[in-house]
Amino acid sequence: MKIAILGAGQLAQMMAQAGPALGIEVGFLAPEQDPCAAPFGRHWQAAYDDRQAIAELVEWADAVTYESENIPTALVEQLAGQLPTYPPLAALTAARDRMAEKQLCRRLGVATADFVGIDSAAELAPALAELGYPAILKTRSEGYDGKGQVWLRSADDIAQAAPQADAVPCVLEAVVGFDREISVIAARATDGTISCFPISENIHREGILRLSLNRANDPQQAAAEAMISALMVELDYVGVLALELFDVGGELRVNEMAPRVHNTGHWTPVGAAHSQFQAHLLAVAGRPLPATGWRSDAAMINIVGTQPEPDQVAAIPGATLHDYGKSARPGRKLGHINLALEQTATAAERLALVRAALCAVGESTMAGQLTEAWVTPAN
Ligand code: AMP
Repeated sequence: MKIAILGAGQLAQMMAQAGPALGIEVGFLAPEQDPCAAPFGRHWQAAYDDRQAIAELVEWADAVTYESENIPTALVEQLAGQLPTYPPLAALTAARDRMAEKQLCRRLGVATADFVGIDSAAELAPALAELGYPAILKTRSEGYDGKGQVWLRSADDIAQAAPQADAVPCVLEAVVGFDREISVIAARATDGTISCFPISENIHREGILRLSLNRANDPQQAAAEAMISALMVELDYVGVLALELFDVGGELRVNEMAPRVHNTGHWTPVGAAHSQFQAHLLAVAGRPLPATGWRSDAAMINIVGTQPEPDQVAAIPGATLHDYGKSARPGRKLGHINLALEQTATAAERLALVRAALCAVGESTMAGQLTEAWVTPAN
């Protein structure tokens, strides 16, 4: 079985690494010269509308998937007419547009932050009168890791948000006073079977994910599963879907969805019975999904901007270093550390391990703020 992936960054790389154990070979279509996935499979280095590369890919592949929602929908539509192509176009279209995504959720009774569509700066003041302060102006498309977002704390901030509101279609969102940020990741097979991973609890800094911890038996697991299942069924989804959620006093609200494997699921190779990368490949290949059980408490610490000292990571018990092989640049995700946490470890021991990993990636302030309660399972 051969699966072509559109895009060749670290998500494609990790799917490629999961392939051989499943008997799946992976290739990539991506315009970059030396993308980090390229050493792990055939690479068509070509634009997403390159007819020859697309023809070769169609000839080579048995199925198609993608690693990013920022690839052209026209290509996915074209490929879907020739090969099994998952996740389906409807999911990609919704996930590329924050407004469409929120409207889909609203239609299904899946809660989100309150929102208003914004097509010009003149619409900001009335929308803020409706939503109140603080609010966030987000671009409808191509925003990620907090990019394309302007926080409005009072009417004084309208002038600062106006240029973006005039330049691109936006959505204004009420700020949610969340207790925690969680995400749920599930896979759906072509036969409609849904297999859901334990949720993870996530900490961001400067809009970038820094730390995820899986939560066995979380009180919100069932609610999160109901939300992601509703979306998957509606979209006739195939593959892995990730849903980022705000937990507000036990009530969940969707922040955004991603029709692909997700950074908050990078702990799955150590913390779950099978990984999100395996689940995605199996679903796209049209094969049945194994049950997605919890295997171990696990934490994932992102490496952002600069690489840690490998020796420092190797000295942390239960830690594995994943280096994507990308050149360092401020704010760039270069790799992650996975930490398997022993069930027998005390809260103090767990905290020490997570702190050591955070310090290794330069997040000593966050390490200092982390509490024993955060690393302790609910039961
Ligand atoms: P996003 O790019 O939409 O995932 O936003 C990045 C981060 O900004 C989120 O992980 C939250 O920490 C924060 N954020 C985004 N939207 C909201 C909101 N409506 N209320 C509160 N915080 C938000």
